Amino acid sequence: MEGLLGKLVEQNELDQEEIVYFLQHLTPELKVRLFDLAAQTRKLHYNENVFMRGLIEFSNFCKQDCLYCGLRRSNAAAERYRLTEKEILECAEEGYRLGYRSFVLQSGEDFHFTEARMVRLVTSMKIRFPEAAITLSIGERSEAFYRALFDAGTDRYLLRHEAASRSLYQSLHPGMSYDNRVNCLRTLKKIGYQVGAGFMVGLPGQTHEHLAEDLLFLKELHPEMIGIGPFIPHSATPLKDAQGGTVEDTLVMIAMARLLIPDALMPATTAMGTLDHTGREKALAAGSNVVMPILSPLSVRRKYALYENKICTGDEASQCRSCMEMRIAAAGYKIDLTRGDHCSFNRTP
Ligand code: SAM
Ligand code: SF4
Repeated sequence: MEGLLGKLVEQNELDQEEIVYFLQHLTPELKVRLFDLAAQTRKLHYNENVFMRGLIEFSNFCKQDCLYCGLRRSNAAAERYRLTEKEILECAEEGYRLGYRSFVLQSGEDFHFTEARMVRLVTSMKIRFPEAAITLSIGERSEAFYRALFDAGTDRYLLRHEAASRSLYQSLHPGMSYDNRVNCLRTLKKIGYQVGAGFMVGLPGQTHEHLAEDLLFLKELHPEMIGIGPFIPHSATPLKDAQGGTVEDTLVMIAMARLLIPDALMPATTAMGTLDHTGREKALAAGSNVVMPILSPLSVRRKYALYENKICTGDEASQCRSCMEMRIAAAGYKIDLTRGDHCSFNRTP
């Protein structure tokens, strides 16, 4: 195990068999060292900075039916909402006033937001906040769509690969195509976006072999951002009786991803904070370096329920920011409200 940990830290590499062996033989003592080494590695590229992104969840309509997600189209109990363009801009204004210079616009796969509408929205945001970075996370679209949005000024795109194992992916995504998911990610990279991929930990049927595939997929794709969070079952989905992921297992994946892809930007997810009051702080201590406080209006927060009991649904944007800042500072990190680009990017506004 010492040899494998050494290889992970010094060469940022392990093969499939080595990852599986490492996961099977990880002791509590080794985990502590793994987290520590991951935190030190993050420091090499980003010091102790934690980047803040204002998250605007602007629609919970979705045409997809992912088995794990509360927003899936078959969930008739979900109360659907869509923010207007004006409301989205107001959220961003509020965020800008609070100091955010990085915004993430996220939604279900809602084709009401056509290319023309999205281009208009991004263009308006770029005119109002020229120095801010804009990230989209709105699912699978065509290459032409991704190009048009990039040309309008979108900087980044988050599209978790969800599962690098074709069979696991297909078992969770009826009507979706593994190849299309991967192609979307490659297309986004080719166009020039800073790209985010990632996966959930604790999906039903997920084995150490699957997790090793996820890590190696990330290593090969080399995305600028990596989102790893625990799966939390939602009672109105087919996976309602699943066990779900644990904070501890997710921390191991975060730390290993940090050591395999040392320069990635990695969020400490809301799902971590939902399972454990200090889950996000633990993620920072295991190699994460991004947090995404929610800017959406209070009236819709509870409706963006991928899973239940999601935290941060009851606080105003300003409260959310100060709560997050306090936590980050108390944990010994430095809050960074700038665009927070990947360390290899220099796209000036
Ligand atoms: N619709 C877009 C997509 O799927 O890429 C963006 C929004 S989607 C809600 C964002 C992420 O939420 C997904 O990539 C998925 O990994 C995560 N997610 C969905 N359901 C979840 C659950 N029950 N527990 C934890 N994370 C979940
Ligand atoms: Fe829709 Fe995204 Fe949820 Fe899948 S994960 S159902 S695409 S919102």
